[in-house]
Amino acid sequence: MRAIRSLDMKPEIMVRKLVYSAGYRFRLHKRELPGTPDLVFPSRKRVIFVHGCFWHGHRCRRGGRKLPKTNKDYWRRKIVGNRARDVKVIDTLAHRGWRAIVVWECELRDDMAVLQRLRRFLGPR
Ligand SMILES: [Zn+2]
Repeated sequence: MRAIRSLDMKPEIMVRKLVYSAGYRFRLHKRELPGTPDLVFPSRKRVIFVHGCFWHGHRCRRGGRKLPKTNKDYWRRKIVGNRARDVKVIDTLAHRGWRAIVVWECELRDDMAVLQRLRRFLGPR
């Protein structure tokens, strides 16, 4: 069974709906946390990041998409910078006692698998 099926839904919205429909409640974009995580579960001290494959340099087909022809170096630097920041953010969160998980845009093709992974990460409702 597919919980959610929409090609033009933003990945972050898809994850929200998925997690919400599984009965979890969360906050959005808490700015006081490093990296402003997309979904925040304060009582569990867990956060979810939803990353676009291209912008965050995922090693998948979508992430390896060709850079725009103009300003190639600019884009490459930007993506490398994003990756470095992502690692640092998760590290900083861990130091503050928060656990983080990343959902990649490309993984949402199998939303049920994503939900299973998130359930394991979040624990019982
Ligand atoms: Zn990907």
